[in-house]
Amino acid sequence: MADAQHDAPSSVPAGRSRVWNYHPALPIRMSPVFDLPPKPKAALAWLAGTWLKVTPPVSHMVFAVVAFLAFWPALPQMQSLSWTWMAQIFAINFAATVILAGALHLYLFVYAGQQMRLKFDVRPMEKSPRFTFSHQTWDNIFWSLVSGVPIWSAWMILYFWVAANGWVSTQGAILDAPVWFVLFFFVIRFWQSFHFYWIHRLIHIPWLFKNVHHLHHRNVSVGPWSGLAMHPAEHLLYYSGILIHFVLPSHPIHVIFHMFALNLGAIYSHSGFEKLLVRNRDAIKAGSFHHQLHHKYFECNYGSEEIPMDRWFGSFHDGTEAATAQVRARKKQRAARAER
Ligand SMILES: [Zn+2]
Ligand SMILES: [Zn+2]
Repeated sequence: MADAQHDAPSSVPAGRSRVWNYHPALPIRMSPVFDLPPKPKAALAWLAGTWLKVTPPVSHMVFAVVAFLAFWPALPQMQSLSWTWMAQIFAINFAATVILAGALHLYLFVYAGQQMRLKFDVRPMEKSPRFTFSHQTWDNIFWSLVSGVPIWSAWMILYFWVAANGWVSTQGAILDAPVWFVLFFFVIRFWQSFHFYWIHRLIHIPWLFKNVHHLHHRNVSVGPWSGLAMHPAEHLLYYSGILIHFVLPSHPIHVIFHMFALNLGAIYSHSGFEKLLVRNRDAIKAGSFHHQLHHKYFECNYGSEEIPMDRWFGSFHDGTEAATAQVRARKKQRAARAER
């Protein structure tokens, strides 16, 4: 897709279309932080829009700080593997997932708190034999809680056990390196987007797609619980982004924020609604139309809006009908090549 499109004014205003109950203004916006030549004003405005408003990353930060200050086991306790602190981490992660996904699901889908307003896909959650228990919501809850939370927790337990024993370099007090402490949150956001792009491309290799990633893609119209409905092998890869903390000195809040961003971020981004409305006012940005397009058209938008990897590697779908035609043409070419 043309780079020039990125800064072009929206050619299609937000609203309803033949395909969508609601779509944002098109083409969709991507982060300008990595644009060349640099656009410092636009980049700062994008970052301010992420951190100085009520957004999912700010909500992950609140979850992370509360979890760390009020509930997290102390580092010395984590030097030896014991069920007490491991269960504590599992319980915090389990509770955070149930609280956020449960609240969003109840508000948006059970009580229809904003009816169809700002909902991307016209379809409700489905009952279909392609899902475990033939029921999309129960399928999604099952895979999130039975595979997602344990694997997420296992990665965190591994990290904190290693960190508590001093086998990786960590940041002690925030004031030891305050600039790095702040800067690292930005690095984590970019790393998350970069890592997700590559593992996502990997699991779209036909064999892995068929045997692993297919489970997540059974969800075409998505809801909050769909975000973490993945095959265990995908969970293992998805949370492996934590490996950055084995290399770069991290404070526990960095690690907890990062892992909550992976987990709670997927719950928000799959909520199916662009924003939550409370009394008809925007309360918080929620769903990602960028990723919703991936669930509809599959072979596009493997990454996220934070780094324009899809633009750089030619897999960007900007939401317009022209982009849909391009994705379909690409799929046809690929199928023709496979038949040869
Ligand atoms: Zn998804
Ligand atoms: Zn995918």
